[in-house]
Amino acid sequence: MAEQPILEYPHSALRTVCQPVHAFDESLSTLLNDLADTVYATPGIGLCAPQVGELKRVLVMDLSDDGSALQEYVNPQIISRSGLAIATEACLSLPGISAKVIRSGTIVVRACDRHGTPFERTLENMHAVCLQHELDHLDGKLFIDRLSAIRRLPLQRRLRAMASAPSAGISATRKLAES
Ligand code: ZN
Repeated sequence: MAEQPILEYPHSALRTVCQPVHAFDESLSTLLNDLADTVYATPGIGLCAPQVGELKRVLVMDLSDDGSALQEYVNPQIISRSGLAIATEACLSLPGISAKVIRSGTIVVRACDRHGTPFERTLENMHAVCLQHELDHLDGKLFIDRLSAIRRLPLQRRLRAMASAPSAGISATRKLAES
């Protein structure tokens, strides 16, 4: 169990479609433990495997104030969605950037736990937003991809600066909220 460095835009791992997990073994448990340790070291509320360089369909989230409600999702899929939620999102892999994103307000997620046991869970509001944000990561998508061109425009300068920085994409753990 150890905190891992968080990869930042424009690292290629953040643009890769991640592979489903087939082996519910010790290495998966280690990955889940590492993700929890890493997200708890930030003010973030969710983190997924590609953000620490593991291209697997694995994510964790905890929206409690005291780190008491960790949820682990392996191979998550949204099987139904309804309503809308509009929330200001940020991302540990896009430090210094935030924007309002429109997503489904209620979702039903099917996933497995770390032992391979399937479950279904209904998530609403910020829980639903967080899951959708993290699930996008597993498909190589970032929340900035969900913005219209006009709403993305004010962020372009910052994105360009990140892409051209000498340390572009090199891992660094940032103290920025992820939602
Ligand atoms: Zn993110």
